[in-house]
Amino acid sequence: MSYGVHHQAPSPTPLELPPLPGDGPTVDAGRFRAAGTGLWLAISYGFLALLIVGSFGFLLLGLLFGYLADLMLSRRTMARLRGSAVQVGQNQLSAIDACARQFAARLKLEGAPTVLVAESSMLNAVAMRIGKRRCVMLLDDVVWGAIDYQIPDALRFVIAHELAHHALGHAGVLRSYLRLVLPPLSRLDELSADTVALQLVERARPPRKV
Ligand SMILES: [Zn+2]
Repeated sequence: MSYGVHHQAPSPTPLELPPLPGDGPTVDAGRFRAAGTGLWLAISYGFLALLIVGSFGFLLLGLLFGYLADLMLSRRTMARLRGSAVQVGQNQLSAIDACARQFAARLKLEGAPTVLVAESSMLNAVAMRIGKRRCVMLLDDVVWGAIDYQIPDALRFVIAHELAHHALGHAGVLRSYLRLVLPPLSRLDELSADTVALQLVERARPPRKV
């Protein structure tokens, strides 16, 4: 995750996305998990368990409330995003839709991911899991940038990176909390997602000529 410079004037030209090849061999995301991730997870779960016991269960109650509040908040966020963001599909930014479906299939993720393109100056992209639905939010700057400068590989990498977070189990609420309070875990998760993304992007087959 990194911060980008906001593109003031979105491109007024019709959306002409370059092809985004995504087909290729399956990728076992778990094999590319960064070394040390298991240790950091064990430490954080152990610490969490100690805190729960030490607080006579009150922390668990607090976490449960936090979890429910967060779930409601993310549902609301999703609903709001759907209002303002563009959901990619066969009729809209279909190259992104096809690429995300191919990557998701290669990662053996169940069902097609929901990919949204939103306008924001905060982050580059986000992977969220809401219930069973896997969402990827791309920022318009990344998409317009790929179109304006004709750098499809950058866009493919961002899509692959976010789907890798899903495949590696990083997109849930608890993991997001842990990543927030434990920067080393967050860095390892980013590294793992990058490694998986490289596999997806570099081993993709060039599209067949029709
Ligand atoms: Zn990431």
